[in-house]
Amino acid sequence: MKKLENYITGKWITGDGNGQELYDAVTGETVTRATTKGLDFASILKYGREVGNTFLRKFTFHERGRMLKALAMYLMEKKEKFYAVSYHTGATKADSWIDIEGGIGNLFANASLRRKFPDLPYCTDGDPIGLSKGGNFMAHHLLVPKEGVAVHINAYNFPVWGMLEKCAVNWLAGIPAVVKPASITSYLTEAVVKEIIASGILPDGALQLICGSAGDLLNHVTSQDVVTFTGSKSTGLLLKSNKAILGESVPFNMEADSLNSIVLGNDVTPSSPEWEIFIKEVRKEITVKAGQKCTAVRRIFVPEHLLEDATIALGKALAQTTIGNPLNDKVRMGSLASLTQRDEVRQNIQKLLASSEIVYGSLDSVEVIDADAKKGAFVSPILLRSDDGFKNEVVHEVECFGPVSTIMPYKDLNEAIALSKKGKGSLCCSIITADNKMATDFVVGAGTHHGRILVLNQECAKESTGHGSPLPMLVHGGPGRAGGGEEMGGVRGVKHYMQRVAVQGSPTTITAITQSYQPNAKGIQSHVHPFKKYFEELNIGDQIITQKRKITSEDIDAFAELSGDHFYAHKTDTNFEGTMFEQQVAHGYFVMSLSAGLFVDGSELGPVLLNYGIDELRFTKPVYAGAEIYIRFTCKEKLPQDKRIVEKQEDFKRGDDLDKGIVKWLVEMLDESGEHVGIATILTMVKRKK
Ligand code: NDP
Repeated sequence: MKKLENYITGKWITGDGNGQELYDAVTGETVTRATTKGLDFASILKYGREVGNTFLRKFTFHERGRMLKALAMYLMEKKEKFYAVSYHTGATKADSWIDIEGGIGNLFANASLRRKFPDLPYCTDGDPIGLSKGGNFMAHHLLVPKEGVAVHINAYNFPVWGMLEKCAVNWLAGIPAVVKPASITSYLTEAVVKEIIASGILPDGALQLICGSAGDLLNHVTSQDVVTFTGSKSTGLLLKSNKAILGESVPFNMEADSLNSIVLGNDVTPSSPEWEIFIKEVRKEITVKAGQKCTAVRRIFVPEHLLEDATIALGKALAQTTIGNPLNDKVRMGSLASLTQRDEVRQNIQKLLASSEIVYGSLDSVEVIDADAKKGAFVSPILLRSDDGFKNEVVHEVECFGPVSTIMPYKDLNEAIALSKKGKGSLCCSIITADNKMATDFVVGAGTHHGRILVLNQECAKESTGHGSPLPMLVHGGPGRAGGGEEMGGVRGVKHYMQRVAVQGSPTTITAITQSYQPNAKGIQSHVHPFKKYFEELNIGDQIITQKRKITSEDIDAFAELSGDHFYAHKTDTNFEGTMFEQQVAHGYFVMSLSAGLFVDGSELGPVLLNYGIDELRFTKPVYAGAEIYIRFTCKEKLPQDKRIVEKQEDFKRGDDLDKGIVKWLVEMLDESGEHVGIATILTMVKRKK
């Protein structure tokens, strides 16, 4: 029988022996086998570090981002192949969309994230820190890609998303990955990796795949590696306490069993629009992916006077769920991923039944379309009811990884908060309310125990991405039982794969290292005005010091007339006693405008295409009539811009065909005594020479 292949050390390799048999979740037939027997796990990590890491860490964030985008576009073209394989896992088309296109979406999102980083292989973290009075000693935090590999040990429920949501981030950070999907659905991960490798888009060693047991892989990790884990708490704890992980202080990000919850705000009644929103959201959470979502709602809290109504309404909603072969268009809920999972779900329901009762669904029977309920891993959606969430401990302990949730009453918001916290840390919690005071009290009160909180009401429901969807730009993870980890989260996630190092030195040295001009660094004077230089000709630190311009009272009056800004401080006849000023003061915007008059050189067409805006602007000292202002104008940062790809002629905008970048300039506004009166960072769009 065919065996899955492992992609390691640059080759597709089949493990020895028969390995583990993997089954179609719907028909129960054998799909393939997985084995890693005979693989040399130490050499897999070594290859990742020596080959993959060496390539990736040299790329800039922008190059890595463009690589992610190319890969995302390539995989989108192949997606139908993945859908065909995904049906074997019991997933419906909608479930597979979350896994496949959600996963590819993570590549796109992280590709776009490159714009938040410099065009360098490393970046700064936070603000510069001055460390001396004279301004010649300072510090900055730098993030450099770790020299190891990201080892991802994933759960069976999202074989594609689970890989791509993590790899997108470590690749953007500049480090390679070794992916070990859960064996039972690893055939889908293998199908995607086959395409990734065939695309040739990633450099050698950027991705390795292990289908089957992880063997002694973790015994070989070092301090430069990062391990992430998604799965059960027991396995997570076992792996987290691995000797090499502890001994080498290897970062270990864990995402484990999570007793997520949803609260129906006590402002909501069966006649308010939020009622329907609540019912729909809960039904979705129970049935999507047959409840095999790490974020799925396991506990439902409703005001006690609405317990009966909510139970009936949810039962009616769940009754509309058509279950069966996901290849049949009528089916809304497929099967669990395996018969073992079905047994586990049934056992866990038994545990929950010790202190609750079934109010919808059946433990023993399920009606299915186009399938054999005995052969496939089918279960009925089950709604349990427990009348005292404070006495019922098991409901806050047992994660039943299937279409199962328990409804419980609460008396007031404090009780709802306390109940949500009894899960001892979850990935996600939602509250349905149109009352923003209640939303605030809930978020502040319960925020310590949840990784993400969704406040859902009529205003956002239509566009809401829903309780169960982790998003690439938001943190995904939760405290306590949820594993205490954090994944994704935009720029935050990238930092997990980089080493933060505090760097101290002179502003000139820190400018050279960070490629971002630091105040007080030596400027580079040249006889060519920087506005006459093309993007690639500009150096960080290129600087001019302008002529002086004297400000008169008439200038201030004229600016007041022109702008219509007649604030008391800009008038000559104001009594300034008790104010912040001594006399008529120049408008800050006037000082900024006259600064532009001093530093702009561009009466003839040149490389500077346009003024792109101002990032920051501070007025630090009042400017009175008679002051003489001059500008120190320095090239601070350069950000490349990709050409916009326009497919249709009618979408073409003027300038789309120009090669260009964004340049940030530090504008230091100084007066005759050399003191700063203002400081700004302005942006221009600058043409490339070629
Ligand atoms: P496991 O914890 O058993 O497995 C998770 C991953 O760890 C799999 O890739 C598994 O590989 C791997 N693994 C297991 N043992 C070892 C080991 N000794 N060394 C290295 N890797 C190992 O979780 P399951 O995927 O089987 O799911 C079990 C339960 O976990 C679910 O029923 C659910 O309760 C919970 N779960 C929670 C999730 C969450 O995010 N909250 C997500 C998914 C599951 P292999 O498959 O080869 O054993």
